[in-house]
Amino acid sequence: MAKNNAADSQYLWMDGKFTPYSDATIHLLSHSLHYGGAVFEGLRAYALPQGPALFRPLEHFNRFLDSISVMGYSVPYSAQDLIQISHELIHRNGFKACYVRPIAYIDDSVRGLKLPETPRVHTAIAVWPWGKYMGDEGHLKGVRIKTSTFRRADVSSSLPLAKISGAYLTSVLARREATLEGFDEAILLDPHGFIAEGSGENIFIVKNNELITPSIGYLLPGITRDCVIEIAKELGVPLRQENITRNQLYVADEAFFTGTAVEITPIREVDHHTIGNASPGPITQKIKESFFQCTLGEIKKFRNWVSLP
Ligand SMILES: *Cc1c(COP(=O)(O)O)cnc(C)c1O
Repeated sequence: MAKNNAADSQYLWMDGKFTPYSDATIHLLSHSLHYGGAVFEGLRAYALPQGPALFRPLEHFNRFLDSISVMGYSVPYSAQDLIQISHELIHRNGFKACYVRPIAYIDDSVRGLKLPETPRVHTAIAVWPWGKYMGDEGHLKGVRIKTSTFRRADVSSSLPLAKISGAYLTSVLARREATLEGFDEAILLDPHGFIAEGSGENIFIVKNNELITPSIGYLLPGITRDCVIEIAKELGVPLRQENITRNQLYVADEAFFTGTAVEITPIREVDHHTIGNASPGPITQKIKESFFQCTLGEIKKFRNWVSLP
């Protein structure tokens, strides 16, 4: 039986019902468990004085619905429905701030790879309190990363705009390799050898007071990445999207990861090369500070990024 520890939630939401944690189980023969065809999302709720606010939920749930349609699934919920359900779920768990994990999957009604024309899709949402993804120290002082031997797949056989569970195997193996070698995270190259992204987060570098981030194609274009692009515009920091080589990363003045889980996490070392002076640089700090203000609805221009019930 599923064990509920203090860090977990009391309730999850499954197919229309608020379900106690230990009852939120699926069958061993679920198609998605065997073949990796579940799709998911990840968003956060931040603690505002008025209560927990979801951060850019419309963008997250629209991407969730896109991922669902990429797999040929359909679910009877709109983005607005899922936003409302998330708010209710957070409220029922009494959380002030938390991570939100929507997932859609196929159950045991199908055997073998072939999916019926209209597969039976289940929709669920879990919430849990989640602190700094790479630890408090990594978040403050920066993380150490290594170039992975695993690469992002060629565009012809990958679906980088969707969060599909099976696609995360490469990320899980890259993260494992990096961790076993004593690093905090991996950086994956694209099939041409350019920098793509981390196992579950995008990357930015700073060189000569300009921000550069890899262009889309081999990476999941994160909503946090989009926040940084918008914030940079507001702050007047020039930003380019283009191919980045390993060499450029080694000699960057600053570098940082972006993603819902990592938020903004500075990078202080890549493949044993120190970035800048091994502590978060001024542009990283400024972007990070603005980003967290945005999550609390404190920057007027981006007030619509936060959503209260
Ligand atoms: C989710 C994800 C990101 C970050 O996206 P956000 O929308 O910022 O959370 C980056 N890369 C991968 C592979 C991801 O799955």
